[in-house]
Amino acid sequence: MIDFPPASSRQLVILGATGSIGTSTLDVVARHPERYSVFALTAYRDTESLAHLCLRHSPRYAVMADETAAGELRRLLRNASCQTEVLGGAQALCEVARAPEAHMVMAAIVGAAGLEPTLAAVRAGKKVLLANKEALVMSGRLFMEAVASSNACLLPIDSEHNAIFQALPDDYRRDPDASGIRRILLTASGGPFRGTPLAALETVSPEDACAHPVWAMGRKISVDSATMMNKGLEVIEAHWLFGLPANRIEVVVHPQSIIHSMVDYIDGSVVAQLGNPDMRIPIAHAMAWPARIGSGVGALDFFGISALDFERPDFERFPCLALAYRALEAGGSAPAALNAANEEAVQAFLNRRLGFRRIADVIAATLERAERREASTIDAVLEIDALAREIARAEISKRSTP
Ligand code: NAD
Ligand code: MG
Repeated sequence: MIDFPPASSRQLVILGATGSIGTSTLDVVARHPERYSVFALTAYRDTESLAHLCLRHSPRYAVMADETAAGELRRLLRNASCQTEVLGGAQALCEVARAPEAHMVMAAIVGAAGLEPTLAAVRAGKKVLLANKEALVMSGRLFMEAVASSNACLLPIDSEHNAIFQALPDDYRRDPDASGIRRILLTASGGPFRGTPLAALETVSPEDACAHPVWAMGRKISVDSATMMNKGLEVIEAHWLFGLPANRIEVVVHPQSIIHSMVDYIDGSVVAQLGNPDMRIPIAHAMAWPARIGSGVGALDFFGISALDFERPDFERFPCLALAYRALEAGGSAPAALNAANEEAVQAFLNRRLGFRRIADVIAATLERAERREASTIDAVLEIDALAREIARAEISKRSTP
């Protein structure tokens, strides 16, 4: 059990404060001013949004990953007589993440850019709230070893993993057999294209892909949900967080997104976590754990739920899900290469340079071509990431739309 600081002094760093998870976190923080204060907020280059958040939450530091944007933010805050100190650059993200004053770090940067600041928080032994699944997918074993050696407290924010965390025994130690666990069932909404005819998927636009039926999220994770690569990344995330092999992590399509995931025990009991689909629930859960606090989300209305449906995932329609399972089974550099190729392909799709169904083709070709190697240091992981991006960009060019 962790030794919590007094309630009045829980200082929070939010990496990726201007995003969907970042702003939901600040919504929960604002409901509990006696309990949390904001030590640092960070963003990439959306200065206006971060300036607005600084004026509202008065953090000690604000960091723009982009140096030019930092200068702009400094000017905006000076004009508004805001006392927040502005820092710039990727290194400053790591500095605030490991600052001694910070107790809790919300890792909510999207993609590989979150790896180093999230690891900085882990290595400094912080309470780390992990939304940035890509960081764990890329560096799996190294990340979990860093958690173990620094005694950091790692809590999952991804709604499925947070649900599983809640459904596991309190003394769970990443050993499913010791706790009588048969398997984990990760639920998936199926995204916006669950029922779209395959032929129509050829021409879907970024706007179609980002119109998620249940969750309002950033653009990258919205496309990942549409391809179901998001669920694939979550299978890998669950493997590292909970210590189950790929064949004991099953995906169940559940379009209503009321059950957020389940643990299936050997006695036949299935323990699930249910709730309205709102990320403030897992965020508030992890922030206050092991206590419970209000999240701003209302009670679940059981009489308003018409049905709870379950389907098998369609691996043909969603080849990205199969690619992620394959990368997890291959191990070594494969998950980092999968993640890098996906980030490049999704960006090309969002920029209208690549068709939706070509995303999976680019990832498959990259995995095929990328050299297998050991991911034994973070520098090696970053090199695997860079090499896979190079291959993926070449594969995108071959398939790009004029
Ligand atoms: P988002 O796009 O809304 O926000 C991303 C944040 O990261 C922004 O603050 C942005 O400024 C910052 N950022 C982007 N690129 C950066 C860079 N190169 N350097 C530094 N900062 C950078 O994304 P989101 O939907 O909030 O998702 C954040 C993470 O949480 C992702 O890893 C996603 O998979 C995960 N997640 C999100 C949800 C959700 O409901 N949105 C649910 C589960 C998990
Ligand atoms: Mg999720």
